[in-house]
Amino acid sequence: MNSTSYKFYSILLLILVILTEIMMLLGISNTASILTSCLLFFCIILAYRFAVLPDIHRVEDQLKKLQQNANDYGVGTRLLIRRDLELSRANEKLRDVDELKSNFISIVAHQLRTPLSGIKWMLDMIINGEMGELNNDQKTFLMKSYESNNRMINLVNDMLSTDRIQSGKVHYGFTYLSIIDLLDSVLFEVSPAAVKKNITIELKSKFMGMPQAYVDPETMRAVIQNLLENAIKYTIVGGKIEVDVQNKRDHLEVSIKDNGIGIPEDEKAKLFSRFFRAANAIKFETDGSGLGLYITKAIVEANRGKIWFESEVGRGSTFYFTVPLGIINKTVNKSATTTT
Ligand code: ADP
Repeated sequence: MNSTSYKFYSILLLILVILTEIMMLLGISNTASILTSCLLFFCIILAYRFAVLPDIHRVEDQLKKLQQNANDYGVGTRLLIRRDLELSRANEKLRDVDELKSNFISIVAHQLRTPLSGIKWMLDMIINGEMGELNNDQKTFLMKSYESNNRMINLVNDMLSTDRIQSGKVHYGFTYLSIIDLLDSVLFEVSPAAVKKNITIELKSKFMGMPQAYVDPETMRAVIQNLLENAIKYTIVGGKIEVDVQNKRDHLEVSIKDNGIGIPEDEKAKLFSRFFRAANAIKFETDGSGLGLYITKAIVEANRGKIWFESEVGRGSTFYFTVPLGIINKTVNKSATTTT
């Protein structure tokens, strides 16, 4: 209400009051009672105009706002549902494309593996002189072909493993086994490569009473093999590798330490990514897919373990991984062995 209407209503009220008083004094009671009724009526109208009406307007405004909010909310919900549907459809498409890619890799890799294995088998026969005597030059060339072919087989196998891991096709059959026995067996397999570079491999601890681990034997073998092969690959001629297993009560901690080329500080964060190879590794050893550590990490984690490393360029690297002991602790009686 503005100030003019205030003045107007106040003056009107004052006149009515004065008139009523005068009438009362003059004894004109009928007119006074009419004026009193008018005054009362006027007061009711004023009360309605200035007390009730604003409240009604306020409630109406609030109702309008609520309705608007409800409308907005409805539109928002409809938009969210539509967006959700679009995302689900896009997700389905991505899954289909991923499946196609996975099938494609799988078919190509399998198709490549069979002839590559055939070539390996034939080259092996020729190098071993089963098709007649070879001179030294012929042998050297054939050995190079044999190694290249082997690299191709390893690459195809890595691609297949990566694909199987990504698409969740790896089957893990957990069982209790001796990690020490597994280490021994893999060490035996990789020792020719170590001997070739005059690298010493040492099993550090005494393993008496070491509990068995609860892991998938096949994939765990691949983990140990990959870490040992890397240690040999990235260690200089005449280097040293130390393998240790520590019992940490609810898990075992395996470490593979080398005094090789190490990993540059600024590249450490990317080490477990697919196809990643550090710059110094590429210079030192051209052969490598950058898939080994990615596969290794996925397998360790699937076996309910953790993997990490410490490294310094030019001084070497230590890779650690853990394996769970499971519920029952069976123990192994075995003393330390040294492989070269
Ligand atoms: P690849 O050995 O085929 O390149 P990996 O996935 O096994 O692939 O390893 C990825 C990268 O991690 C290597 O290229 C190398 O840069 C680094 N690396 C792994 N192990 C070692 C190691 N023991 N010493 C130094 N660098 C390593």
